[in-house]
This record gives sequence, structure tokens and C-alpha cells, in this order.
Amino acid sequence: MEQMLLNGNTADYLMWGIFGLVTLASWIVQKSLQSKFEKYSKVPLPFTGKEVAERMLRENGIFDVEVVSVEGSLTDHYNPSTHKVNLSESVYSINSVAAAAVAAHECGHAVQHQKGYAPLRLRSALVPAVSFSSKFMPWILLIGMLLVNFSVIPLGVGIVLFAITTFFSLVTLPVEVDASRRAIAWLEKAGITDKETTPMAKSALHAAAYTYVVAALSSLATLLYYVLIFFRRK
Ligand SMILES: [Zn+2]
Repeated sequence: MEQMLLNGNTADYLMWGIFGLVTLASWIVQKSLQSKFEKYSKVPLPFTGKEVAERMLRENGIFDVEVVSVEGSLTDHYNPSTHKVNLSESVYSINSVAAAAVAAHECGHAVQHQKGYAPLRLRSALVPAVSFSSKFMPWILLIGMLLVNFSVIPLGVGIVLFAITTFFSLVTLPVEVDASRRAIAWLEKAGITDKETTPMAKSALHAAAYTYVVAALSSLATLLYYVLIFFRRK
């Protein structure tokens, strides 16, 4: 056992330790996000998510973006190709601090698009490469793992494809943080939230940002795992 620990298996234990920590962090972040949104969904504001979004777009000089309602929960997103801010039903027609925070955050992406915010442009440019990678990567990695002791080429290709998705999840971080920063600044300036409710909106968006941090860390850890296998082949 001691011999095993010393003979290169330390990297395995370290790897599983990292995976364990990332899984635990992901669980904690999800729970905290859930509880914050539940809490701030109960704090009413005079405006619905739709009203907040439309006003934020208008006051930022954006008139060619439509605010629409989409099915599902946590389906809120801004689509730059269709010029639409898509809000889930629990945000679109609801007047709460949580709904206002989400609506303003999605409009933050529309503002980034309008201003040509560089990380968003980079993220959009990566989308075709990422969808290509996601389609073939699982198979190439599987084949790569099975054949690693015969040829390293399939695993090498799989690692390159995986690295593209990891890079994408890292580029997502500044885009998300900046959208939330724009959202909070505007909510406060426009008087949608006040001294009491601004910190609540901030706290809800911070909790949401951590889910992207954990996703990026998890992607990095998995990439590291494949790289380790690549270099330890026989
Ligand atoms: Zn976002």
C-alpha cells in the first residue's frame, strides 16, 4: 500500500481529491443559489421582470431588442443572433427582487453586445468550435482512453477538443461577472432597488456567478485528468 502511494498513484489520489472537492463545491453553490432565489423571490418590487428589462434596454439606448417569455425555469438568456432577451415565466411576469436581478443581468448581456464588449465577442466566436467539440469529444475521448497504450493520437485530439470547451468556460466568467455588475449598477441608478434591496439583488447574482466558477473549475480538473493519463501512458 505504501509502495503504491509512492509509485505514482499519489497523482490519482490527488485527482480524486480534486474531483471530490469540486463536486462538494458544486453542491454547496447550487444549494446556496436555490435558497437565495427562494428568499429574494418573496421580496416584492413595483415592477415585473419584463418591465425592468424593457426599461433597462431603453435607458441604455437599445431599441432593437425584444423581451419575451420562455418556458421552463432558469431558462433566462440573451440571444444575440435573434436580438431577444428571453425570460423564464418566473421572471417575466413576477415582481420580485430575484426576478428584477435576473432580468437586469440578461439585459447586461444585451448592453455588452451593443458595446462590443471584447470577452463577449470572444465567447460568441468560440460557439461554433465548442458545439463541434461537444458533439465529437465524448467519443474521441472514449476511443482515446481505450487505445492510449497503442496510440496517443486519439486521446491527444480529445484533449485539444476538451481544452476548447474549458477555455470557453473560462471566457464565460468575465462575461457573467460583467453582466451582473452592469445589472446592479443600473438597478440602483434607476431606483428599481433601494438601500435595502440592492444588496439582495447583488447577493442573488453573486450566488449565480459562483455556479460558473464551479463549472470552470470542474472543466479544468477534468482536463487535467486526461492530460495526466496522456503523460502516464505506457
Ligand atoms: Zn449571464
